[in-house]
This record gives sequence, C-alpha cells and structure tokens, in this order.
Amino acid sequence: MGKGRPVEGKIALEEHLSTPLNDALWDATGEAERNGKTYMADVRAHLADAGERVALMDEHGIGTAILSLTSPGAQSVLDPREAVDFARETNDTVKRDFVDAHPGRLEFFAAVALQDPQAAADELDRAVRRLGAKGALVNGYTNIGDPGTGRYLDHPDNAPFWAKAAELGVPVYLHPREPLPAGHYLYEGYDSLTGSAWGFGHETATHAVRLMLSGLFDTHPGLQIILGHLGEGLPFLLPRLEHRLRKQREGTGLGRARRRVGEYFQENFLLTTAGHFHTPALRCALEAIGSDRVLFSADYPYETMAEAAAWFDAAPLCDNDRVKIGRNNALRIFNLVPGPS
Ligand code: ZN
Repeated sequence: MGKGRPVEGKIALEEHLSTPLNDALWDATGEAERNGKTYMADVRAHLADAGERVALMDEHGIGTAILSLTSPGAQSVLDPREAVDFARETNDTVKRDFVDAHPGRLEFFAAVALQDPQAAADELDRAVRRLGAKGALVNGYTNIGDPGTGRYLDHPDNAPFWAKAAELGVPVYLHPREPLPAGHYLYEGYDSLTGSAWGFGHETATHAVRLMLSGLFDTHPGLQIILGHLGEGLPFLLPRLEHRLRKQREGTGLGRARRRVGEYFQENFLLTTAGHFHTPALRCALEAIGSDRVLFSADYPYETMAEAAAWFDAAPLCDNDRVKIGRNNALRIFNLVPGPS
C-alpha cells in the first residue's frame, strides 16, 4: 500500500467530445453563466479536438480513451425522428473523425435516441457490431417533445433498448444532465448548484436508484451500468436507503425489485473516478463495490488529465488495485487490446 509506480497505458472512459452537428444544438449559455465564460469557452475548444487530446494522453500515461458526446446530447433533441438521425450521424462522425483518426488510442460509446427506444436498440446494434462502439452513454432522462418532459431509463417503454444492451453484452454509461426545469426550484437562488457542482450528482444518483427499484436487473441480471464521479454519492448513501426502506416501508418501498439495492449495486454497477479526485471517496467506493468495479477516468475536458492522473498515480493503493483500476478492469470489461505503455 502506498505511493507505487504510476500506471502507464491507463484507460479512461468518461471523456467527452463534440461534433459540428452537436455544436449547432448545444446551448451552454446556462453553464457559461454559472461556471464562468472563460472556462466554458475553453471546454468548447477542447471538446472538438482529437489530436490535442491524444498528445495530453501521451503526457499523462493514458493509453486509451473511450469517448462520448458531451451532455445532454441526443437526450435533449425534442423531435423523436430528429433525435434518431442525430444519434446515427453523431456515431458516424465520431467513428470517422476521432476513432479512425487515432486507431488504438480512441474508442467510443454510442449516442442513442431513447425518444424512440426501438430505434435506440437498432442504433446500438449498428454502432457496436459495425462501428465497434464499446457500449452506449446516456445523458440522464430523455426529453419527449418538450423540454419540461423527461422519461427516465426505468420507464417500461425502454424495454427494447435494455434487451439489446443485454444481448450485446455491452455496458451503458449513465451520465448526468441538469434536472428538469421543475426540479430547478430546489436550487432557487443558488443557480450554481443546478449543474455539475451538485445537481448532476443528485439527479443521477436518483436515476440509478430508480433503475435498481424497477426490477430491470431481475429481467437482465448481467446488465452493467457505469456511473461516473465515484458513484454519484451512492457508495456512502445506499446503505441508509436500504435500511430505511426495510424499516419504514416493510419492504414495499423496494418497488418491483426482488433483491436489495445493495446487491444490484455490487453486481450491476461499475464506477469511475471521473471528476472526483478525492481519496476518502475512492476508499468508500472500494469498500462498497470492490476493486474489480472501479475504473480510472478523467472527465476531460471539464477536468484536466493532469490532475486526474497525478492524483490517481499517487493515491494510497496497493499495486494490484492500482493496475486494475487504472487499466486491467477496462481491458476485461471492454475486451480492449492494451494500448501503448
Ligand atoms: Zn462527464
């Protein structure tokens, strides 16, 4: 245990990009107001750049990055047909301009339009089988025709999508987005809390709990969901959720699920270090879920690879855990060939 050798050839999997099509749609003015115009202008420039990203990966011992379209992506396209076209075009662009431009260094998670769950299933199939996508990344709830309406992933209409993810054996990364407009009331007077500083985690942790209580993992016991930010607080909070549901609701609070939430967490979830470079939180995540289910990530360009890698390489871990979290878990889960080290 202690400061070991840095892991070379690390694999990072919450790493974001944008495309010209997404840029035309992406409204970051809210984030810019809240998070600082200079910061967001900087992020925007880095999102589109593949070459600069690979140079930074070289500098910080990252062999491979699995990329995804920045939040909210396809989930915020109001018209279902447009959303389906948007996802398909995004995946083709990402494959051509990022993955094929840097073979062996950049991989990707598919964008999917859950406005039409069957189309999302078909696109996931195409993206995985024909384009080599490593799974899908979904940015929270999906707007259905109106920015005030959101459908969460536990909705029964999403059944074809989940069946396809299970059939292909690929994970789904549940990435945050801001709460629905009605949910902003909680943060009234404190706009800076709605986004990544606080609201993202609150929104995404609740979304993950909905999945656990929905019975989804009884239907598809092998399904794997990835959460960033060391599990959005769940490693710390889930035991109390489970305790109170049992004590106060006599089990009825468990929704349609047959098992305890903690069992699903340990068997159906994977956590990344994206954007949460804090050793006590890492220890908590490792205690809750074990070192086979925690994976290194940066959350570039919202975070820097320099900070993510420097923290991780010096974190108090035994060498075996550091190599698993930094690289080997991802090699196993995504069937990757080791990159340069
Ligand atoms: Zn992110």
